[in-house]
Amino acid sequence: KYRALRAEKTDSGVQVSLQTLPLSALPDGDVTVQVTHSSLNYKDGLAVSGRPGVLRSYPMTPGIDLAGTVLEDRTGRWQPGQGVILTGWGIGERQDGGYATLARAHADWLVAQPPGTDARWAMSVGTAGFTAMLAVMALEEHGVTPGDGEVLVTGAAGGVGSTAVALLAAAGHTVVASTGRAQEEAYLLGLGASRVIGREELTALNRPLEKERWAGVVDSVGGATLAGAYASTRTHGALAVCGLAGGSDLNASVFPLILRGVNLLGIDSVTCPAPRREAAWNRLARDLGAGKLAAVTQERALSDVPTLAGEILAGQVRGRTVIDVTR
Ligand code: NAP
Repeated sequence: KYRALRAEKTDSGVQVSLQTLPLSALPDGDVTVQVTHSSLNYKDGLAVSGRPGVLRSYPMTPGIDLAGTVLEDRTGRWQPGQGVILTGWGIGERQDGGYATLARAHADWLVAQPPGTDARWAMSVGTAGFTAMLAVMALEEHGVTPGDGEVLVTGAAGGVGSTAVALLAAAGHTVVASTGRAQEEAYLLGLGASRVIGREELTALNRPLEKERWAGVVDSVGGATLAGAYASTRTHGALAVCGLAGGSDLNASVFPLILRGVNLLGIDSVTCPAPRREAAWNRLARDLGAGKLAAVTQERALSDVPTLAGEILAGQVRGRTVIDVTR
């Protein structure tokens, strides 16, 4: 038997409850993983709150991230006892995810736990931190180099934002953190931001081309925030577009693209190919080891997830939340 947070569709909407399930309830898959930790992402907030668009069928175990040890792999690629990480690939959306003590997965979805790290660290990174890493890699590949000028991070006190601030600072960039929570200024400066600006400074930039400000941008907010950041990105700068916490619209002109050579880069962590995943996780282990994420991370029990889901959608969760699935 195993324990899982299950989402079920009922006449009165989606209901979520902690359940004890027989092994026969596990989906098919090559590898059985003993899950010790999962995490909380914005998408998990949507799923657990019963918002449409994330969970594709019911009943379903949400949780887009998990870490733990291999119990059995019928392909022979992973050894019993080996530490593994799984993010994305549709877990917690199309197939049972990380809010459970056991999971099944395809062998090629898993990433080996980088040496010197553990499952708790992996989940303090989670999809949000992994996405921030992909965003920083995309900016670097498009020529954003330390010393070029200020790099902007929007939604900076959130999960993607906090890890992006820390990663960019570790790589030597001058980081400007945009937040709607002025009370988080000290936290963001502590992560390595050189200054903190309010959300409204970006949404006020509503002309097609604004004064050139940012050498690069990591955006997890979308909407008017992204439009403002895009209009104020410097010539040959780049924006890594990750999220929609502030809206999914993008009302903008082509002028930054065709008059400044700005690059608008899309980031999708779910389908990121295996070799790039491995590279990203190894760099995360190098640049953002255990100590560096401690200030960003809180740990909570699986039973707290329904409450936390409402909080993350309301923009009230700071940094990253690790979920201990055994509690
Ligand atoms: P999160 O921890 O809730 O962070 C989102 C942050 O956005 C909040 O902390 C808040 O930052 C800001 N925000 C929230 N509501 C806002 C609003 N109405 N207007 C302006 N800003 C607002 O969530 P997360 O897990 O980091 O995810 C962030 C976004 O990235 C989500 O949309 C998520 O779906 C997306 N995402 C995408 C990928 C991908 O593969 N593309 C992967 C991971 C996440 P401040 O309080 O600092 O303003």
